Amino acid sequence: MSAFFYIIVSLLFTNIVLAVIFFTAYFSMGRERHTLIWAFTFVVGACQWLVNIFKPSDFNTYWMIACTLSVGTILFGTWGHLVRTNSRFSKTSLLMSGLAIIAITYYFTVIDLHRGLSTSLYIYHTVFYLFLCGYVLLKHRDKPRAAEIGAASAYILFAISQGVAATYALMQGAEWNAEYFDIYRMINFVSLPTGYIGMSLFIVFVLASDMSEKMRIQAITDSLTTCLNRRGFFQIAQDKLLSLLKKEMHVCLVYWDIDKFKAINDNFGHSAGDLVLQRATDVIKQNIKDSDLIGRLGGEEFVILLGRVDFDDARLVAERLRVALESTSFEYNGQQIDVTASFGVVQLKGEDASIETAIDRADKALYQAKQSGRNKVVQLAL
Ligand code: GH3
Ligand code: MG
Ligand code: MG
Repeated sequence: MSAFFYIIVSLLFTNIVLAVIFFTAYFSMGRERHTLIWAFTFVVGACQWLVNIFKPSDFNTYWMIACTLSVGTILFGTWGHLVRTNSRFSKTSLLMSGLAIIAITYYFTVIDLHRGLSTSLYIYHTVFYLFLCGYVLLKHRDKPRAAEIGAASAYILFAISQGVAATYALMQGAEWNAEYFDIYRMINFVSLPTGYIGMSLFIVFVLASDMSEKMRIQAITDSLTTCLNRRGFFQIAQDKLLSLLKKEMHVCLVYWDIDKFKAINDNFGHSAGDLVLQRATDVIKQNIKDSDLIGRLGGEEFVILLGRVDFDDARLVAERLRVALESTSFEYNGQQIDVTASFGVVQLKGEDASIETAIDRADKALYQAKQSGRNKVVQLAL
């Protein structure tokens, strides 16, 4: 038995262990679809090494099955990354590229034998997708996390080593060449175990960081309306306020509260009240910018931090929100529910501006809006 045979056996076990790890990750880390796809990636990988151990006696049959499984492994792995990052892509194009490379390899293996092309083209195909995975990991968000940078680096290093291996395989030319083949095989078998372990450990790290990010977001999000909750709003709004004021931007705060909401609960039931809260916040979100922050401070009281908007414009924004709510009817079990809200608007200025004091002032403005008959916008100057 050659040393390469033992490496192939260890690659089989590595793939089986990684498949088990990713199946476990799937069940214990939120059952994300991409984690399941990665688990199957290693199942396909294990099949590839199994075929390398129990080689069919006909070389061409063996080579085509091994190539197909190798192409399947990288395509599954890439699919997982595209699903994780919600990237726009077509599954058909992944499949078509796989079928095309298998067909080309078949041509240079069975129809018009060219050893160099038969052994290298499918690896170049893999190299392309390894780079793509690295790119997707880095480009997914403005500032990639440490785990994503680590995983992308592992993918790129592995892509480079596979690219070098493929080039030696290609340099054989049409005939088998022992010298180049040995170098290709040596690079391949040295880099494969390290590559598998390096990439998958970083991917588990990426999954863990996705999970902690999800929990962090859950901890600051109101589950009913998906607005920031009180804690989340105070945390994020204070940072945003400081950064806007540092850039000498205008910042305003709108405090709004649904009018006579208790009556909605009393007349239509608590579930109707919940629905109104959800729909009313949807209407508000549609009428503000994505960069504006909206938080639910409690019950039917909400606050919006408007960046880059001066005091007069903030009043107009609040007026637009008031009209939008007033002119929308919500339907609950065939019954129409009309809603209005009152708004208090204040401006935040100066180095010592704080969200707490702004909310206190906006609360006073809101109180005046309620006192003056509700469904009103009241502005309170500093
Ligand atoms: P006002 O015009 O003065 O604001 O009157 P209001 O009835 O809107 O205000 P009040 O503070 O008297 O009542 C608020 C009600 O909101 C009381 C509470 O039961 C209800 N509420 C608080 N949280 C929720 C919730 O999550 N879902 C539902 N359905 N109701 C809620
Ligand atoms: Mg109210
Ligand atoms: Mg209230």
